[in-house]
Amino acid sequence: MEEKQLLLENRTAIVTGASRGIGRGIAKKFASEGAKVAINYNKSSGDANSLLKEIETGGGTAILVKGDVSQSDDVRRVVQDTMGAWGRIDILVNNAGIHYSVDIFQHTEKMWDETIDTNLKGTYLCSKEVAPIMLNQKKGKIINISSNSGMYHPSAMRFAEYVASKAGVNGLTKALALRLGPYVTVNAICPGAIATEMNAYRDPEAIKALIAETPLKRVGTVADVANAALF
Ligand code: NAD
Repeated sequence: MEEKQLLLENRTAIVTGASRGIGRGIAKKFASEGAKVAINYNKSSGDANSLLKEIETGGGTAILVKGDVSQSDDVRRVVQDTMGAWGRIDILVNNAGIHYSVDIFQHTEKMWDETIDTNLKGTYLCSKEVAPIMLNQKKGKIINISSNSGMYHPSAMRFAEYVASKAGVNGLTKALALRLGPYVTVNAICPGAIATEMNAYRDPEAIKALIAETPLKRVGTVADVANAALF
């Protein structure tokens, strides 16, 4: 029987915030296509360890790289540990993100700072740390998991700090794409609502309304985003 051609053989990838949700799905998808995956997590060591085991049981290769993406020292360590293990970084997926589903008048300055620091500054710090390595390799892909909240999409624009963070990610993506091309490509994926714990706050009526305005008439899945990232 002919062996399946793996799309990411000999590639290495860092996936931030990979212990659960979309990041976990991307890490598994990339590993199943032959990539060696550095699983970044901040606090959820149990979930990260279970992902590592899952990938290894499936015949894949992965390491755990703990670190808070909003802290430059942590980000430096995550990248150094990955380089130490495999000597190159082909793909960075900036996936780590948070979302306080709180109206602006209930929102605090601390929530604003955390959201911007994780979603926007985290994407900036990780990209800046891997960019020289990718430029040196003359090869690399940075994939930012942004959101339709960062584009003009009224029903996805309820939460000011989240919208601002993802609009910032979209701007950063364009600036980096211009600066790092042609060898390093930088793209953003802007999903609508995806069935993960981040959306657990939505009540069934809100989900129904979301589905009604979605062309496919369903909520998105982690697999939808993982397949887009693989592409
Ligand atoms: P999730 O809450 O399930 O996962 C987010 C992950 O990021 C968690 O593992 C969390 O621990 C990690 N994380 C948070 N702060 C971190 C930090 N400082 N350092 C390292 N890791 C950190 O959410 P999800 O739905 O899987 O979201 C993943 C990404 O997709 C986010 O950037 C989110 O904004 C984006 N997104 C989600 C949806 C959706 O509907 N779920 C839609 C559009 C975009």
